[in-house]
Amino acid sequence: MDRDRILLTPGPLTTTLRTKLAMLHDWGSWDTDFNGVTAGVRRRLLDIVHGHDSHVVVPLQGSGTFSVEAAVATLVPRDGHVLVLDNGAYCKRAGKLTQMMGRRVSVVGFDEDASVSPQVLDEQLRADASISHVVLIHCETGAGVENPLAGVAAVCQQHGKGLIVDAMSSFAALPIDAREVRFDALIAASGKCLEGVPGMGFVFIRQAVLDGCAGNSQSLAMDLHDQYSYMEKTGQWRFTPPTHVVVALAEAISQFEEEGGQPARLARYADNCRTLIDGMRRLGLRPFLKPEHQAPIIVTFHAPDHPAYDFKRFYAAAKTRGFMLYPGKLTTVETFRVGCIGAIGRQEMQQAVNAVGEVLREMGIATAPA
Ligand SMILES: *Cc1c(COP(=O)(O)O)cnc(C)c1O
Repeated sequence: MDRDRILLTPGPLTTTLRTKLAMLHDWGSWDTDFNGVTAGVRRRLLDIVHGHDSHVVVPLQGSGTFSVEAAVATLVPRDGHVLVLDNGAYCKRAGKLTQMMGRRVSVVGFDEDASVSPQVLDEQLRADASISHVVLIHCETGAGVENPLAGVAAVCQQHGKGLIVDAMSSFAALPIDAREVRFDALIAASGKCLEGVPGMGFVFIRQAVLDGCAGNSQSLAMDLHDQYSYMEKTGQWRFTPPTHVVVALAEAISQFEEEGGQPARLARYADNCRTLIDGMRRLGLRPFLKPEHQAPIIVTFHAPDHPAYDFKRFYAAAKTRGFMLYPGKLTTVETFRVGCIGAIGRQEMQQAVNAVGEVLREMGIATAPA
């Protein structure tokens, strides 16, 4: 096969040829040319959230989780108390990393097939004044649920609590406006809806908050205050930058802007999501979430209720046809997931549905006629 397989996953994603070609050069980390690329990426990232008046953006090497960990380490004082709103696997990861960094953490659980509740958050904050920060996962990629960012931010603001948002799988697709929604930190990464390649995260931090964060981090590598200070002083990354990832992200952001920015990206992903769900329904496959909770990012489907179904075989047969699916991440029911994001459109989604139909027939579990 001379064409790359389509990645229907929550990252890494299918990227354009233009983005891939941007990686065919070597860059010196201290050189002004590369520093210019970094500065441009940071400026354009702030454009996307309308954050120039309120926030700075601090990039960090590593996968997205590194940046979540760094945001908690940098913003939460050692004697802070973090409340995690938990409706899935990425929420649990945020709780675990917070605890492992020695911060006090409380978790309030919600069902994994529904959004978290700002009202329950309000009750929790009334009941325990020691909570200093709230962690919200904007799109819980585990099941694909969109959580109410604006509602949660409003409650945090009323109570004067810091809000840390993991917007990894929503940033650049769902609307996020720092002028309207108050957050202390918001985290995303190169290899998600901006359609760059994986390898760096970035954290938007409220300027007024960052100034007070010196010395919070118990880790040198994860210290975003230090990373920021060094970058402001020198224009350089503190340690070896992921040069190829940064130039690919710059190229990916150019294409994002040419496409029409966040509204256009959301429209394409929403169309991908509709095409996928409609097509899979015709094959007899049901989505796990109700439409009102479904973010147009990744869709969880119930596995076919048939003795011949086996995810490994299903996956392998779809892969032979050029499509990479994703396993489910739910504890209670057997599911699989299909991503709607990346440099793909309606045609690829229709082809993916056709491939799944063929696979079901091949496995002897077709639920609808060819
Ligand atoms: C992808 C993702 C992350 C980061 O995962 P990594 O494997 O570290 O890149 C964090 N949170 C959410 C909600 C995500 O979708």
